[in-house]
Amino acid sequence: GLQLRRDWISLTEVEGYVINGVNATNIRAFLRHLTLHPHLGGTEGEWQTAHWVADTWRQQGMDEVHLVPYEVLLSYPSTSMPNKVRLLDGSAREVWASAIKQKPLYAPEEFDPDLPFTFNGYAAAGNVTGPVVYAHYGGSKDFAFLAEAGVNVSGSIVLARYGKAFRANIAKMAEDQGARGLLLFSDPSDYAPEGPDFVYPHSYFMPPSAAPFGTTKLVDGDPLTPFYPAVESAFRIPEEEAAIPKIPIQPIGYNDAYQLLRELGGAKAPQRWQGGLNITYHLGPGFRESDWTVNLEVNNRNTMTTTYNVIGVLQGREEPDRYVMLGNHLDAWLFGSLDPSSGTAAMMELSRVFLQLYNETGWRPRRSLVFCGWGAEEYGLVGSTEWVEQFSTQLSNRVVAYLNVDMAIEGNYTLRTKAAPLLTEAIYESSKKIPNPDPEEVLAGRTTVYDTWAHRRPDPHEPHLPRMQSIGSGSDYKTLQHNLGVPCLDFRYTHDNVTLGEPMYHTLYETFALVDEIYDRNFKYHSAITALWGDLAVTLAESKILPFSLDVYADYISKAQLAIEEKYGQLLSSQNICLEFFTEAGVNFKKAITSFKKVINGLDRNNHVITAPSKTDAYGATAFAGLVDTLFAIEEASENDKKDLWRIFAHHLAAVTHLLNTAAKVLSDDL
Ligand code: GLU
Ligand code: CA
Ligand code: ZN
Ligand code: ZN
Repeated sequence: GLQLRRDWISLTEVEGYVINGVNATNIRAFLRHLTLHPHLGGTEGEWQTAHWVADTWRQQGMDEVHLVPYEVLLSYPSTSMPNKVRLLDGSAREVWASAIKQKPLYAPEEFDPDLPFTFNGYAAAGNVTGPVVYAHYGGSKDFAFLAEAGVNVSGSIVLARYGKAFRANIAKMAEDQGARGLLLFSDPSDYAPEGPDFVYPHSYFMPPSAAPFGTTKLVDGDPLTPFYPAVESAFRIPEEEAAIPKIPIQPIGYNDAYQLLRELGGAKAPQRWQGGLNITYHLGPGFRESDWTVNLEVNNRNTMTTTYNVIGVLQGREEPDRYVMLGNHLDAWLFGSLDPSSGTAAMMELSRVFLQLYNETGWRPRRSLVFCGWGAEEYGLVGSTEWVEQFSTQLSNRVVAYLNVDMAIEGNYTLRTKAAPLLTEAIYESSKKIPNPDPEEVLAGRTTVYDTWAHRRPDPHEPHLPRMQSIGSGSDYKTLQHNLGVPCLDFRYTHDNVTLGEPMYHTLYETFALVDEIYDRNFKYHSAITALWGDLAVTLAESKILPFSLDVYADYISKAQLAIEEKYGQLLSSQNICLEFFTEAGVNFKKAITSFKKVINGLDRNNHVITAPSKTDAYGATAFAGLVDTLFAIEEASENDKKDLWRIFAHHLAAVTHLLNTAAKVLSDDL
């Protein structure tokens, strides 16, 4: 048809087109396609998914589509020798053995005999035997408690609960403390609080045989090519030097954890360490039958394989070299109906809407929209990290913001957002434009996504505002946010707080049926996320002045500075360390913002020193993490180690002060 000229379409019209153009039936069809087969990173399934995304984008009319391969080291279970946990009696006879796969329960695809054996990514192969120690959530405080209680972790097989710390942090702590192996399970009190009758497929709570997979590698990206892209010409370090676990690790269902916990000896675990299994949890080490042990056999293999990113570009008209990036990962541990395919389905519908607008009217965004389908995220952000390593120079100069949707939904209760402080107002404003997908909430007078977000998830400090969480690690925004300083956000529809996380996360039961029959029967929540994602992209790609929340950022910084001063002021002055320059740098930054409201370019290069993933739980984030984590370490350290740590602290404090001043200078443009 006739191509309309772009200046005939107002910003409001574009926003309306994108929000109203999202079609729930398309999202459902995309999700059905994406979840037919497992699509684990580096396998045929991921390759198929990547090609389907690339072909679909080409058909939709994307200007450029790139399939970007990387040769990386990924980890797989053996196809013939399953991993096993066995309880052995005093004569090394098997008393009991764990399941080798999760039990198929409902959707036909769960019954596929070729599904992989249960495993954790990068868990070392090995065959170890020892007493079991129960370590609660495997956090640094939990290990400290065990040490105080005189329970020796060294030489044992640690049994820890999923749900609080990032599993790779649990693995690192267990390994550092000399554990021989690690078993991970999800406690029913955390994931099946309504009892055994209310579990999948009758509800979204966790069935007893669910054993969530997940990476146990802590360092991002391909393990063999730190800091450089895993392209053909790359130099690869030997596998022995790679930052991957040295101990075997294995997830088990809570039915299997029960078999171990009910035999466990040692002192009774404290009340807050008790769980939902109908027994008293003990700490160990070892069993009531004092000569019993546990044997853990892990037969995983690390293999060089190819993973693919798919990058699709809709060129901007006025500033084509400024990128608003949108992304989601393509790989899943199994069927991945929530993680990540709910997000992939949303992304494919969003690109369809933008390209339909372009095809019908000739409209192009002011800045380029870059759609990203990442490979091998589940293994530790592999595809996105390698890509950022490859293109870091262009990206750090050109990316305006990165909008990640790891999953569109993990529930249907309220929006949940993790974001750089700079993006606070943008997402508040966009979420006010998206009609509420929850009919009961609409009846209660809350007509937008924002309204329910503010009502059901208020900010703990400013309860009239919705809660924004700071952005640590956990998905593909990590390298852009923390290595390049690009402002990033990640959002989704989430569950209420009854469970510690989405109960089916990383399990066999993340099926299409779980979404289609339980969570989002008419794909309204998916549609709301897609529309929100689109509106944010329009705002960031179209505004002449970027909608960055400078005041929120300045506030975030001064609050974090104050918190450090209040908590550690005395300790610091006892070391003759003054915060004066640091505080002054924060004030300078604020001043520069006040006088700078027109020119924004280049603001956010340094904010990885401002928010960083926490050292003991990479999912979390701390403001001024380098300072706070060091102070925390100082408090725990022996007198001997303290001296070095204070030096590190003083050095980092000076660096942060310098960078804050640099940011202020960028804004005020003086030399
Ligand atoms: N999203 C993946 C997970 O939670 C990977 C996160 C990471 O490696 O930081 O297991
Ligand atoms: Ca690399
Ligand atoms: Zn994910
Ligand atoms: Zn995941």
